[in-house]
Parts: sequence; C-alpha cells; structure tokens
Amino acid sequence: MEDIYQFDQEFRDSIATVDEKGKRIWVYPKKPKGTFHRWRVLVAIILLAFLFGVPFIKVDGDPLLLFDFFERKFIIFGIHLWPQDFHIVALIMITTVVFIVLFTVIWGRIWCGWACPQTIFMEMVFRKIEYLIEGDATKQRKLDQMPWNKEKILKKGTKHLVFIIIALLISHTFLSYIVGVDKVLELVSSPPSEHLAGFIALMVFTGMFYVVFSILREQVCIALCPYGRLQGVFIGNNTISIIYDWVRGEPRGRLKRGKIQEGKGDCIDCRMCVYACPTGIDIRNGTQLECVNCTACIDACDQVMDKIGKPQRLIKYGSYSGIKEGNHKIFTSRVIGYSIVLALLVSIVVFMLFTRTDVEATILKVPGQLYQEQPDDRISNLYNIQFINKTNHEIPLKLKVKDHATAVIRRVGDEKLMLKPGERLDGVFFIDLPKSEIKDIKTKLTIQLISNGEVIDEINTNFIGPVTLRKK
Ligand code: SF4
Ligand code: SF4
Repeated sequence: MEDIYQFDQEFRDSIATVDEKGKRIWVYPKKPKGTFHRWRVLVAIILLAFLFGVPFIKVDGDPLLLFDFFERKFIIFGIHLWPQDFHIVALIMITTVVFIVLFTVIWGRIWCGWACPQTIFMEMVFRKIEYLIEGDATKQRKLDQMPWNKEKILKKGTKHLVFIIIALLISHTFLSYIVGVDKVLELVSSPPSEHLAGFIALMVFTGMFYVVFSILREQVCIALCPYGRLQGVFIGNNTISIIYDWVRGEPRGRLKRGKIQEGKGDCIDCRMCVYACPTGIDIRNGTQLECVNCTACIDACDQVMDKIGKPQRLIKYGSYSGIKEGNHKIFTSRVIGYSIVLALLVSIVVFMLFTRTDVEATILKVPGQLYQEQPDDRISNLYNIQFINKTNHEIPLKLKVKDHATAVIRRVGDEKLMLKPGERLDGVFFIDLPKSEIKDIKTKLTIQLISNGEVIDEINTNFIGPVTLRKK
C-alpha cells in the first residue's frame, strides 16, 4: 500500500494514544454529528432496547435468551439446550466464528462500529453523558487541565456518579442473561448478606464496566479485544472498510484564499477527521488496526467538503482495490471458500435443531444378562433405560413394544414415568414376550415412547431368546 503513504510514515512506529515516554495520550474526540452518526444513534437505540429488554421477555415462563454456565443450561430463542446438547452448542459457536470471519473478510470491522457493545456503550452512552456534562472536546481538555475547583469537582463528580449508575445497570443486565432476571430481582430486593457471592460478583462486574468505560476506553479496542487484534489476518485489499480516497485527496494542501491550490487534491489538511477520531488516528495513513469503523471521520470530512463545495465521501466505505484500481471484487476465492463452509455449518445446525426430539432416550440390554424363563411360557429380557427431558415442562411417558400386542413391559421401581423439566432418569425394565412370538435367538424389537397418546420416538433393540428357538 506504499502509494497511500507518501507523506507521514511516523505513524508506523508509534501508537496514537501513547507518547514517546510511554505515557497514555488521552483522546478528546470532537462531538460527532452527520448522516452516519444519526444512523448509528438509531441502530444503537434499537440494540440497547434489545439488550435491556430481552431478559424481561419470557416464552412459556422461560427467558428468551439464557446462558446459564453454572447450571449448564442454555435457552436460545425459546429452544432449551442442556449439557446433552453440548455438540449443538459447540457447533453453533463454530458457525458463529465462521460467520464473523466471513463477515469481516467482506465488511471489515462493521461490527465494531455499529453493533459491538463496547463501542455502543462508549460512544453512544458514556461519551454522550460526558459531552452533556463537560462539553465538547475543547471544554473537556480545559476542564482536565484546570486545578481542582468547585466547577471541576461538581462536573467530574456528577459524571463519575452517572457512570457508576450505568455500570451497575449494565452488570445487572448481563447477570440477567446468565442467571435470569427473576434471580437478579431477588438478589437486589434482599440484603447482600443473603447472597454474598452474587453481591460480590455484581460489584466486581460493575467495577470492571466502570473502569472499561471511564478509563480504558479506546484501549479495549486497540490493545485488549482479540477480535480487533485479528483484523490483520482477516482484512485484505477487497475488504470494505472506512478508507480515505487518496487518489482524489492527494497531494493534500491547505486552502489558499479560501480555494484549493493549483495541482492539489481535495484534502485541505484541516485534520477534522483526526480530531473526530475516538481512537486518535489519522485515517489518511491508510487502514489501521486502531480504526473501529465508527464513521466519525466520514461525517467530519463530509462537512468540510460541503463547506469548500467539493463532493462528499473523500473518506468513505470502500476497499483498497476499489480506490486504487477502481474495481472492487467481493467474491474472492477466500470469500467463496468461507461461504461454502458457512453454508454447510448452518445447514447442519438447522438440521440438528429441527430433528431434535423433546426426549432423548437410550435403551440397551443389561450387559451379561441373557434371558429369564417365566412360568407362564414367557421369556423376559432386562434393559437399562435413560431418558432426558429436554423441555421446560413435565413429560408423561409410556413405553410400548411395537408389533407385539402381547408384550408386557415391567418397570423396576416407580411405575409412573413422569419426566420433570430437564430431568435425566435412569432405570431398568423387563420386556416379557410369549415364546410363540420369539422366532429366533435374537428378535428385533422396536420400543415406542408414547406421551399423551402420541408416539414421540421409536428405539430399536434386540430381544434374546433360548437357543432352542433358533430358526431352522
Ligand atoms: S479512523 Fe474514522 S472510522 Fe476509524 S476509528 Fe477513527 S474516526 Fe472512526
Ligand atoms: S477532514 Fe477531510 S479534508 Fe480535512 S484533513 Fe481529513 S480528509 Fe482532509
């Protein structure tokens, strides 16, 4: 990409938010405004409403989404997944990763700019509160530089108090996704001494969120987020990202008497794009790992272009190839390869979810046991059973041997088969068959699982009879 970097190469050797002595340079981005910002506000409102609203939405008394790692219970849009469904959860996670990779190869960090909770909370919640209390970038800088006086104490104190309240709200919401909103409400309505572990967890999470949004800020995206660190692997010449049109903008030069100088490009080197950037970078240096695709520089530059009477989108969504060669290729071999893998994974996940039964049943002959002769000319076999109820409601169960009307099933232990929600039931039972129905040493049997008069599953097994009944 050497043709972009005709001017300033220094950015390669330094991080915009760290000075020569290794000290953090605090970023004071200018308050964003413009078309993209308005769209981002709208998207953020929808996503925040979703995030805070979902824990309160219930389907059949259960949350719409639940990721209870402690109980190893997951609910995804009403579908209950238990530890026995670990393979489905693992496959969903792999599919999500492939989806993210594919999405990033084509669309770059669009997730970071538009949907990542870190960016949404930072730019649309915490930063907005900061602008409201401390004012725009220049006022914030002045406030930080002034000695501690009444105004500074009041503004800083109010801001941090609001930050802590929001951090509390976020930690409670996140906990609702793990243990359910009912448990969280129970937690907050009783003294901390009754739920010490939960209370400590909430305080730790609140502290973490407060530190992330009031101190770490853009450093999370630049240095901590693994997705951000992997961008160098995903992004290629055809990836769409926020890019400066250097063909149109260079050579850059200051305005002379309000006009672009002869032989200069459209960039007037006003640095408004740099002042707007929440990660403190200059996008004119080319795509950089620090760029979270927040679009603030597009809006800032568009306003400059409007003022100097030039077309908007000197900074825009585009690809390196699109700008350099004028043609943008979406379907590269990498994209096609990832798409095929993704389609396969999605098909498998959908198939597994749709063919998943409410009850998982295993019926196996007890090892080491052959058969028992019964006094009434019957033969019995002993079986191990295991039933798992994968739903959130009780399931009454009845077992029946298909095509053998006279077969008798005798359970050992409790006669009533009622599976509680999520319950795993282990036991043994006998099947008795009249000798007249046994035609061989091994007879194939199909056992039907019947619930409320409906056959919900069929399991094949073998019935062992005496050698004397062997087929001639
Ligand atoms: S370069 Fe532009 S899009 Fe990237 S983080 Fe900075 S302002 Fe946002
Ligand atoms: S805002 Fe636009 S014109 Fe100003 S420096 Fe940035 S790219 Fe150049």
